[in-house]
Amino acid sequence: MVRYFLKTAAACAIAGMAASCSAADSGQDEGTIISQSAACSSSGLALQVLGSGGPIAESGRAGTSYLLWIDGEARLLIDIGSGAFLRFAEAGADFNTLDAILLTHLHADHAGDLAGVLKYGGFTPRTRALPVIGPDAAPRFPATDEFLDALLGKDGGAFAYLGGYIDGSEDKVLLEPRAITTAMGKGDPVEIELADDLRIRAIPVHHGVVPALGFEISVGDRKLVITGDQSANSAAFEQALAGSKPDILFAHHVINGDRGQPRGLHRTPAQIGELAAALQPGRLVLTHNMNRALERIDDSRAAIAQNYAGEVTVADDLDCFGL
Ligand SMILES: [Zn+2]
Ligand SMILES: [Zn+2]
Repeated sequence: MVRYFLKTAAACAIAGMAASCSAADSGQDEGTIISQSAACSSSGLALQVLGSGGPIAESGRAGTSYLLWIDGEARLLIDIGSGAFLRFAEAGADFNTLDAILLTHLHADHAGDLAGVLKYGGFTPRTRALPVIGPDAAPRFPATDEFLDALLGKDGGAFAYLGGYIDGSEDKVLLEPRAITTAMGKGDPVEIELADDLRIRAIPVHHGVVPALGFEISVGDRKLVITGDQSANSAAFEQALAGSKPDILFAHHVINGDRGQPRGLHRTPAQIGELAAALQPGRLVLTHNMNRALERIDDSRAAIAQNYAGEVTVADDLDCFGL
């Protein structure tokens, strides 16, 4: 198996963050560094990080978003947080090749740029319907189908002029929403075959009062897991994946600030280490990075290392992880 991650001069220049890329590179020499941003879309299987940031507006990091590449085609878009619309283009992705959009939950730093990507989709020749898989509803959080209606519905949607996406009319592709029952992290995992070579499991997680999912993505015998935003009260998620040994675990890394941040929404670094110990991934990647967490990254690495001795990489936007 080839493992590489991209920390390219091209990607850094695009993101306008050459200095911080250099600093990050000096701290991690694991893996093979590919020197062209085209590498992620060239061949094989890879997950590209479109947005490595969180809800705070910080230079160089879009809100959470990932792109699964299979043999040069962008097949899955997972989350599309604020700013990821731009990264989608920078990655060279094509709306036509997507098999589905997966949404871990409906916080704006994970879904804020959905309308922008769909608007762009209207400029492409795509005719194939597009599944949109996300969580169910809770107070102040619509279910995935309700979210699309509220965003795009012809009667009262925020962008009602894009309402053709709801019924497949007006030269828009039909969106096929599927809301997974989350039961506040206690719902059953749901397996979905998206294509002959691509399966996912949507696995409910606990993220405070927010209906939320993590995803296991399988292509042949290769597997990757995205935690989404989750607290350590996600026992069902951990049980569903215990000992599964994914090639990569992408964990959302959040350190609470001194004020204002609700508690109980995220795993601490030590709890990320516990999850990694249970799943035994080949590599752990920390995403959903904010400056206040990166300033304490050595503490986080030490806390993770108490439970997980494997490789830990801190993601930047446009990083490409081959499997
Ligand atoms: Zn988030
Ligand atoms: Zn969240």
